[in-house]
Amino acid sequence: DALPAVSRAAGAAVKAADRAHVFHSWSAQGLIDPLAVAGAEGSYFWDYDGRRYLDFTSGLVYTNIGYQHPKVVAAIQEQAAKLVTFAPAFAVEPRSEAARLIAERTPGDLDKIFFTNGGAEAVENAVRMARLHTGRPKVLAAYRSYHGGTHTAVNVTGDPRRWASDTGTAGVVHFWTPFLYRSPFHAVTEAEECARALKHLEDTIAFEGPGTIAAIVLETIPGTAGIMVPPPGYLAGVRELCDRHGIVFVLDEVMTGFGRTGKWFAAEHFGVVPDLLTFAKGVNSGYVPLGGVAISAEIAATFDKRPYPGGLTYSGHPLACAAAVATIRVMEEEGVVEHAATIGETVLGPGLRELAERHPSVGEVRGTGVFWALELVRNKETREPLVPYNPGPADNVAMAGFAAGCKANGLWPFVNMNRTHVVPPCTITPAEAEEGLEALDAALSAADAYAD
Ligand code: PLP
Repeated sequence: DALPAVSRAAGAAVKAADRAHVFHSWSAQGLIDPLAVAGAEGSYFWDYDGRRYLDFTSGLVYTNIGYQHPKVVAAIQEQAAKLVTFAPAFAVEPRSEAARLIAERTPGDLDKIFFTNGGAEAVENAVRMARLHTGRPKVLAAYRSYHGGTHTAVNVTGDPRRWASDTGTAGVVHFWTPFLYRSPFHAVTEAEECARALKHLEDTIAFEGPGTIAAIVLETIPGTAGIMVPPPGYLAGVRELCDRHGIVFVLDEVMTGFGRTGKWFAAEHFGVVPDLLTFAKGVNSGYVPLGGVAISAEIAATFDKRPYPGGLTYSGHPLACAAAVATIRVMEEEGVVEHAATIGETVLGPGLRELAERHPSVGEVRGTGVFWALELVRNKETREPLVPYNPGPADNVAMAGFAAGCKANGLWPFVNMNRTHVVPPCTITPAEAEEGLEALDAALSAADAYAD
């Protein structure tokens, strides 16, 4: 037992320094007792006491090929030995190769890649490119969205976490997007929801003045806000409105890109090509920070005539790009994108729907690939959420009980307001997915106690 004791002491030291000196983000700031993580591999991670958890969160929805993939770890090590860093104005092999591989996989003519260090910076730069390209000031974005924690990105975001702290910036206008389960348009069918949502957007554009709008920014499938798959025809309708008014269409695929939805990019599900596409997270499974904007030929041509006045010191960092090249190759070699689609169709989708039938606390299941949400409710008929929006600790007993139930059964869940998102690595095996479904089943019984 000597080793666990040593290990436990190491874990306690990690945690003590964390508590004393790490200023955590969002709700983890001061509220949550962080788990000290000793290691991770594939779909699992473990603490210093040797307790192992199946990760149904993929970190923050980014470890699309799981933790510590040996080929990607080796590629990072090899790149570090060869050329650990080099400034962005030079052509270096991992950067040019990553850009080529990404451009080949993004839809349509999105063939130029502007690299950033993550998703928020990608959104910042996409908005800036759209404003410079059109010469217009405004951006239209969705309520129920998340686009990042930096100034423009957080103000484009439609997320209750920011209302108290960020009053909004001039030029960002929010509108409602389709979500039939809690329809802002009082629709009862998907076709009605789609038509009313498009009419609402058309009216918003007309009232704001089409000639003032640089961009419409949407997540292809809104993720953090609840994995709300848009109805057929909605994104094509937005594309049409953008074309009619010369508005740049930005699809934010930071969370949905690189296999998460069972396609390389979620836009493929809807046959839509944006003018700018933002990515990060899954591009290299988050092994080294990387994000970017994929740019259409037309917008790229604007900046051939006058240089884009922006850039970042670590844009296309060789270590991050080497990780992206290795990740994309692994995804091809191992059929990871196809696997994500299949596991969604054959294990996760059917398994989650079966849980919804048996548990009074599950109001709706929605998603695709390895991108699913369970909406937890007090009553299936009224759809009253299990906890109110933006719950404080006192409201949160039911969801806290659910999360504790998952952890007691070896599952680390993603919990946001009254939802749990099932977002494991794209590489999760059928047996691991079944194991997670069993743990969810047990934990949902705790949530059922709060439902009718
Ligand atoms: N856009 C979307 C759709 C996201 O889901 C996120 C993060 O969750 C971001 C942007 C921000 O990315 P980052 O946290 O890498 O800045």
